[in-house]
Amino acid sequence: MTQLPDVPLDGLYGDLVMDHYRNPRNRAPISDADVEAEEFNPFCGDRATLQLKLDGQGKVCGVSAQAEGCSIIQAATSMLCDQLHGKSLDEVGEIGEQYRLAMKNGAAEDDTNLGDLRALQVVRQYPVRIKCALLPLTALEEGIKAYQAKTS
Ligand code: ZN
Repeated sequence: MTQLPDVPLDGLYGDLVMDHYRNPRNRAPISDADVEAEEFNPFCGDRATLQLKLDGQGKVCGVSAQAEGCSIIQAATSMLCDQLHGKSLDEVGEIGEQYRLAMKNGAAEDDTNLGDLRALQVVRQYPVRIKCALLPLTALEEGIKAYQAKTS
């Protein structure tokens, strides 16, 4: 297992990705999380671990994001989780869909929901690395599915 090399990411978006990589947000683990998910890519050693705490209205009131591996997985995990504060799980799902579409086709101008996630579009110039950027989203979706199966 070899970690993929870091790729140069230029411009404002590249700078924002590197900022999240160097200063990841919401690193502290949550001891009583409602949604917990982990996703691992055995080919490059990328791992994303996400936790959400929900309040009485079902809105995200706590977020924990931890990642290991390349700079892209670490930045993407931080950026995705940072976007979820105060959102309902439906809204989280919408952000996820918009993010996945943005990584495929580029973000629309009015995708204000994406916040810093918009910056990950720079990764589209390295198609094999899009997987790194989407790994935390896969984790999040699996975690929400498991939570909904448990609580319904
Ligand atoms: Zn990676």
